Amino acid sequence: MERSLLLSGFMGTGKSTVGRRLAERAGVEFVDLDLEIERVEDRRVREIFEAVGEEGFRAIERRELGRVLDGPAGKVVALGGGALLDRGLRLRALDEAIVVVLEASPGEILRRTSTSRERPLLDGGDPAERIERFLAARRLVYRECHARVTTEGKSPADVADEVARIWARAPVAVAAGDSTYAVEVGTGLLDERLPPLVSGASRALVVTDEHVEALHGDALSRALAGARVPTARVVLAPGEEHKSPRALEQIWSAALGAGADRKSRFVALGGGVVTDVAGFAAATYMRGVSWAAAPTTLLAMVDASVGGKTAVDLPGAKNAVGAFWQPLGVLCDVDLLRTEPPRGFASALAEVVKTAIIGDPELLDRVDTGREAIASHDAATLSDIVRRSVRVKARVVGQDPREDGIRAWLNLGHTVGHALEAQGGYGRLRHGEAVSLGLVAALRIGQRLGVTPRGLVERVTGSLSALGLPVDLGREPLREAVELLGHDKKRAGSRVKFVVARELGRVELVELPLDELAALVLGLTS
Ligand code: NAD
Repeated sequence: MERSLLLSGFMGTGKSTVGRRLAERAGVEFVDLDLEIERVEDRRVREIFEAVGEEGFRAIERRELGRVLDGPAGKVVALGGGALLDRGLRLRALDEAIVVVLEASPGEILRRTSTSRERPLLDGGDPAERIERFLAARRLVYRECHARVTTEGKSPADVADEVARIWARAPVAVAAGDSTYAVEVGTGLLDERLPPLVSGASRALVVTDEHVEALHGDALSRALAGARVPTARVVLAPGEEHKSPRALEQIWSAALGAGADRKSRFVALGGGVVTDVAGFAAATYMRGVSWAAAPTTLLAMVDASVGGKTAVDLPGAKNAVGAFWQPLGVLCDVDLLRTEPPRGFASALAEVVKTAIIGDPELLDRVDTGREAIASHDAATLSDIVRRSVRVKARVVGQDPREDGIRAWLNLGHTVGHALEAQGGYGRLRHGEAVSLGLVAALRIGQRLGVTPRGLVERVTGSLSALGLPVDLGREPLREAVELLGHDKKRAGSRVKFVVARELGRVELVELPLDELAALVLGLTS
């Protein structure tokens, strides 16, 4: 396994027993973090608590978990119940490992821990009450992890089987507090993973478009049959021009017609247009129902699947009306990409390159060396690049869920890209093609500003060009495009936040007066 497995959960949930079993089975190292702390500190956990209090113990715990994460990946680690309380460390663990929480009810935890003397947290007061209090305090921490597995009524072997399957699927957690969800990437996902995502709902409403319905509608019906939930379907006209309030109304009416109530679930099967509209319809129908997405284009997998942005367009204003509304889960079945029209598929690779520049140098290597495998839709290669892209976006969004700060990094290449896209009336260039040109522009502007090394400009331009994406800014109508730069910020003296790359995997924001940016863009023709 590429990533380590971390088992979290309250004491008494069987983390060590299950962890040891899983490590043995996989033939990998097992670390019990509490035992590791006792070894390093040369005293028992209880003694550490007595000497430095809970705060002091948590600091040691954070340090040791950091050390475990710094070491080689691929092991199984049983964490102390509070090891993930620090959100920064939790996000790191979620990014670098798979974190599964083992759960049990307070009564069961009390029963299982009543004979242990090593439970300093439960000292003082009624243990049952203390357990309930701790579980309530840690609810959000546990909620942000990749998966939660209940252990009650199950043998350690059964729990280990369930956890092993999650570990093997290597989901990506999009940490968003109570709305946290997992993005799964692979093949055969509709059959295997859609039924559990839909079960429990009173009804399912599938939202798709005519192209996708014709190609994958039957596969979806077969998969949903396994969920045993009454299902209705609404098929939208395809294309950006239908990402409109009219499509929303179609979905709301279909939901009403099918008797969908607040416990119903919407399932989006399609490209970014379908997932954006279906998500927004879910956010608003009956003041919000749950939804799941099965993206069918590379752009929707690597970009729209993370972050919970949903929207429709208004005439002349893309994504003008929308909401943040996280799905319950996202299934990226890369086999669905085999039928995606080639130009859209190729253009989405620009977003993959962008993502690599923002946070995953290895991803750019994989794209460079995997060009043929990508073009032939090799499932392992596509799963790898989709999962890596989703991981980077999830890392950024987890730190900035409401787009107040570093989420702006994701706009790398989009300032000039959007201007070129708009100049072409959204028809001349596909979004990804505009982003490709925008990336070249952002890197060259970064170079002019003395931030981006020349080698990086050349490397990325070479990668984009080898993917068949446009990179020649000299052939672009930059003068007209500059008129559309930062069109929402046209006031005199206004400044724009522009994303530049310092090195592969490291970007930053610079604030530039709009006039200066315009001059820099015009200078790119030479
Ligand atoms: P799209 O949804 O319009 O799909 C492109 C075309 O391919 C459509 O004709 C569609 O019917 C067809 N198609 C989709 N999947 C197919 C498949 N597997 N086989 C055959 N045909 C298929 O376009 P897109 O590029 O997927 O998405 C663009 C939209 O995504 C834009 O509206 C953009 O704003 C949005 N988007 C949203 C986010 C977000 O964070 N929410 C991020 C990026 C993009």
